[in-house]
Amino acid sequence: MSATDRPVVFRNGLVLTMDDAHTVLPGADVLVIDGRIAEVGVNLTAPDDALEIDATDGILMPGMVDTHRHMWQTAMRGYGADWTLTQYFVWYYLESGKLFRPEDVYAGNLLGAIEAIDAGVTTTVDWSHGLQTPDHADAAVDALEEVPGRFVLAYGNIQQGPWEWATSPEFRDFHRRRIDGGKLAGFQMAFDVTGDPAFPERAAFEVARDLGAAVTTHAGVWGATNDDGIRLMHENGFMNPSTVYVHAATLTHDSYNRIAATGGSVSVSTESEQSAGQGYPPTWQLRHHDIPVSLSMDTSVWWSGDLFSAMRATLGADRSREHLEAHAKQETITHCHLRAEQVVEWATRGGARALGMDSTIGALTPGRQADVVLIKNDASPVMFPILNPHGHVVFQAQRGDVHTVLVGGRVVKRDGRLVGVDLAAARAKVAATIDHLRETMGEEAWQRGMNPDVPETAILENPYQYTEWDAGSAQWKH
Ligand SMILES: [Zn+2]
Repeated sequence: MSATDRPVVFRNGLVLTMDDAHTVLPGADVLVIDGRIAEVGVNLTAPDDALEIDATDGILMPGMVDTHRHMWQTAMRGYGADWTLTQYFVWYYLESGKLFRPEDVYAGNLLGAIEAIDAGVTTTVDWSHGLQTPDHADAAVDALEEVPGRFVLAYGNIQQGPWEWATSPEFRDFHRRRIDGGKLAGFQMAFDVTGDPAFPERAAFEVARDLGAAVTTHAGVWGATNDDGIRLMHENGFMNPSTVYVHAATLTHDSYNRIAATGGSVSVSTESEQSAGQGYPPTWQLRHHDIPVSLSMDTSVWWSGDLFSAMRATLGADRSREHLEAHAKQETITHCHLRAEQVVEWATRGGARALGMDSTIGALTPGRQADVVLIKNDASPVMFPILNPHGHVVFQAQRGDVHTVLVGGRVVKRDGRLVGVDLAAARAKVAATIDHLRETMGEEAWQRGMNPDVPETAILENPYQYTEWDAGSAQWKH
């Protein structure tokens, strides 16, 4: 980020520092100089040229971090709202994923990147598994570099085995051209481990080790990946603290023990796991194994790119499971284990830690990069009173309340409006992508893809007589 941006001072906000003690400071200022947090406290002295932003009645928190988003799919926003994971696989992996041209990856990434910073998600991992050719990869990076957020490219390609694309000269050339010394915030390799006993993924892991790249992998996904993949990774020495396990929702204790012992983290996509069917959102198990958690939204083909949704869904799913497990034993949960504060930590520090960026982002403490979100909306009845600050972020606030966003000290959103972003251009690119796909697929396939068959619901036997209520006489008809 540019260090030449003018200083910024937020005045009189409720500051959730997310430092190690999770310090909350009411009526406090946050001073940003040269792109970093200079000071957090009451009545700070700011340089004369500082931009003053009134944070009265607002919450200041660190920029959020999404550790797993297939940003190229943003161009298909909402299309798969009624899909299962099976339908997703058929549509993207088998039938239509190949239709995406480099400009379509560019369009989805551009809109997804803008969507992220608009919602206060200042760092996003682009889990980019639509990179069929180096041109697709260049297009993905072009879009990410155009938007003033932090983006980690997780390179993948669902049209080939990872042992093919990762060992190709084109991939090495791309890495040399675009990643070494490039503008991105980081680089990962994105592929799944199927559990084939021959472990063909070894070649890709070796390339990752050679490049010093973290591996991010969909693990513990019902019907796709399971304990065998984790065991093979572990037995072959490819699990380490930088490894990110996405979902990890259908694994046994043995796999969780291997993850915990090797220091990796899990990216939980609760909204995705709940409706696509990877497995029950696993935080209720991860907590017992002391496995670090980050949050993610997976894909806008179903859901939003919005970590308020992730926090809310994750807290609800964890508590729901805890109650359900207790009820099965005729017991009652009287105190919730998982707190809103912990979920805010997962959305900020948790993501920073998963990406090895905890010393630079994830908290509002002096010296860290100034990725700052002001949640403030004087027109909303929901922003008053703010009694439980972390709870307010999780259960009350939403993306429309994101008032101002800084990335590395640069103002990218102010007074609820994006700054220095050409949203109209992104819309036009996405519209062209939709035209291309719709024409290529044909209208019938397009509609069929969006509207999967509804299985019949079997109505259960009911021992009581169905009767009809007569509203006129306020009597049951017999
Ligand atoms: Zn995913």
